[in-house]
Amino acid sequence: MARALNFNAGPAAIPLPALERARDELLDFNGSGMSIMEHSHRGKDYESVHREASALLRKLLSVPEDFHVLFLTGGASQQFAQIPMNFLRPGESADYVITGGWSEKAYEEAQRVGSARVACDTKRDGTFSRVPAQGEVAVDPAAAYVHVTSNNTLYGTQWHHELDPQGRPLISDMSSDFLWKPFDVTRYAMIYAGAQKNLGPSGVLIALVHKSMIERARADIPVIFRYATHAKNDSLYNTPPTFAIYMVRNVLAWLDSIGGLPVIEARNRQKAALLYGALDAHKGFYHCPVEEGSRSTMNVVWKLASEALEEQFVAEAKKHNMVGLKGHRSVGGLRASIYNAVDVETVKTLADFVGDFAKRNG
Ligand SMILES: *Cc1c(COP(=O)(O)O)cnc(C)c1O
Repeated sequence: MARALNFNAGPAAIPLPALERARDELLDFNGSGMSIMEHSHRGKDYESVHREASALLRKLLSVPEDFHVLFLTGGASQQFAQIPMNFLRPGESADYVITGGWSEKAYEEAQRVGSARVACDTKRDGTFSRVPAQGEVAVDPAAAYVHVTSNNTLYGTQWHHELDPQGRPLISDMSSDFLWKPFDVTRYAMIYAGAQKNLGPSGVLIALVHKSMIERARADIPVIFRYATHAKNDSLYNTPPTFAIYMVRNVLAWLDSIGGLPVIEARNRQKAALLYGALDAHKGFYHCPVEEGSRSTMNVVWKLASEALEEQFVAEAKKHNMVGLKGHRSVGGLRASIYNAVDVETVKTLADFVGDFAKRNG
């Protein structure tokens, strides 16, 4: 069997050892005679997986005790609504830093729930090609929170400095770059990330929420939408997506086994350097629309002179077993998502192909 060289943006590649472990444990989890999917979410076997996933996350990121680790459903899209439902009280307003399509969606949902304000918007000529400098973000001194998107999956931009929220609680959608490198969790009031980019399969979202946020959150919303409900019940208030959480456990165990976040950061930087290097070596042929200081280490986007040439690139890459290279339908162009699970060798193959294709068609 030849595994595809998978550059999908999400759902995306999953580390092979995590998949192999799932295969080996599928029919008989831990000698129980059944798969983890068939276990009660209240039983010992599943409970050990649930706890391990959460403990691994705390270990990898040094998450302090005053943060809750939550497993939620509905994806980042549900968080766009759930965050203002919990943290926007009547009369309050929240600030949104708009750097791409996902932050626009988050802002729009907040407006449906309460009052939201744009603290900065880097859209120009209908597109986003950078993240803002600190001086461009004017934070409302009374903002209930400031919301940012750490990596803009569609546009291939990423923050390489952390925003100073000027004393207001900082909430970050890290769906497409969570755990790509170590970072200081304590700078944030809340972090959230859907699993299907950097953490495993779709179906579960991980949220780290500071206890003080949960204590101050609104209690006049339905029980199921309150973070307090999920915090109090260890994300077992209702049936969690047990198999997705099991897969996240496998991915986190793999990450831990290779040396954790410093090791994956070095690999990720090496991968990004390889691919951007190959594209920059043929600057007239490939066009990277992102400002250099905002280039994403996770989603690399570029364009060719015509759509026909882009289609040819995708078709030829496919013959070499490379898939998932078409840009997002709203943006066009090409995109390679090189998340944690995509290894250096795979990116090297793509970088070589990038050089070769330019030589043949340039
Ligand atoms: C993929 C993505 C989302 C949407 O995730 P869903 O699970 O589809 O809701 C939101 N924000 C970012 C940054 C993303 O990459």
